Amino acid sequence: ASNQAAIVIIGTGLAGYGLVRELRKYDKDSPVIMITADDGRAYSKPMLSTGFTKNTDADALAQKDAGGMGEDLNASVWTLTKVTAIDTTAQIITIGDQETQVHYKKLVLALGADVIRPPIQGDAQNYVYSVNDLLDYDDFRTAIAKNNVKKVCIIGGGLIGCEFTNDLINGGFETETVDPLGYCLPTLLPEAAGKAVQAGLEAKGAKFHFGPLVTEVNKSADGLEVSLNNGEKISCDLVLSAVGVRPQIKLAQDAGITVNRGIATNRLLETSAANVYAMGDCAEVAGHVLVYVAPLMAQARALAKTLTGEPTEVSYPAMPVTIKTPACPVTVSPAPRDAKGTWEIEQDGVNVVARFVGTDGELLGFALTGEGTKQKMALQKLLPAIMP
Ligand code: FAD
Repeated sequence: ASNQAAIVIIGTGLAGYGLVRELRKYDKDSPVIMITADDGRAYSKPMLSTGFTKNTDADALAQKDAGGMGEDLNASVWTLTKVTAIDTTAQIITIGDQETQVHYKKLVLALGADVIRPPIQGDAQNYVYSVNDLLDYDDFRTAIAKNNVKKVCIIGGGLIGCEFTNDLINGGFETETVDPLGYCLPTLLPEAAGKAVQAGLEAKGAKFHFGPLVTEVNKSADGLEVSLNNGEKISCDLVLSAVGVRPQIKLAQDAGITVNRGIATNRLLETSAANVYAMGDCAEVAGHVLVYVAPLMAQARALAKTLTGEPTEVSYPAMPVTIKTPACPVTVSPAPRDAKGTWEIEQDGVNVVARFVGTDGELLGFALTGEGTKQKMALQKLLPAIMP
């Protein structure tokens, strides 16, 4: 029976749809079922943090609905459908509370990442938004319009927090951004580069609070009051939480599949369970958790071949990430997680070229801001591949 069963893909983000697009290059007809907890609209997630700059609401960002995607990909797309369990021995998944079960020949977990919710007290927690998919984005824009929002407090000064800070400034809002660490993008950039981003955003009117944690969000006479653990208060009309994401591992973990920071796979994207694969933000591929678009595209290309009979390991070249803060452009290529080395920094105002150099003098990563971003191509060529 297993031979007649479909390839089942859980998730219709860039990973899930990207995979089936690649798969159909090699195999036009094998049955494919795609299952998603959301409405299955195809959209580019990175565009969620440029919506005010480009004046695009959720409908404008949606490229196609689930029906249209199903037609294009010759796949059956099940929307608003949550997978609740996987039986890796019988090769069956369970849907919702009902006893609906689906048999799979191959199963691909493309579940994405969950937003981390910081522990916040107070009587206005329902004014704390996070934007990690198109439906969240729609809710956030609706709340902005409904509450006549002028000022937004952003929790988190990392990639997503800084991108939204810049985007909201471009949209004409006031912003105050809070981060417990010392400068913008603290986990990706050395201090000189992070301070350059801060200066670029401040020049456009952004305000930052580095050092404290947000403890409470409460209603006030004319909006909201955000309390910080250093005693400061910020008044605003809405709060956006952007403290990071965490690979979705629970479904796999509950099924007895090996998980670590993400769902663990080898370079064939095979999990510890036979015929179960993982890719995209939920996956930890040979030890790498990289929650960006370029890695998932590389995975989609490799896995499409593997699923159609040509086992293909995924390779990662160096993949610099461009951060969408036009107030101070940033391109960063983080060094491998446990790489040993030091930053060598050249700086001219907000223009920074920072090289992360290993103990043998080899370039392992870089962080570029402002005019420094022009060095991207030249430096990228010198970087080693992440997974050759
Ligand atoms: P998702 O798009 O999250 O898809 C997960 C899917 O799984 C969804 O369809 C969901 O419904 C489904 N699902 C989960 N659990 C279940 C279940 N139990 N049952 C059924 N369905 C389920 N990356 C870059 O490279 N460059 C950028 O500039 C950039 N900007 C970004 C800006 C923002 C604001 C954000 C949030 C991210 C950004 N990223 C960027 C990261 C990038 O967008 C992600 O790496 C990528 O979109 C992840 O795609 P995915 O398909 O793995 O996950």
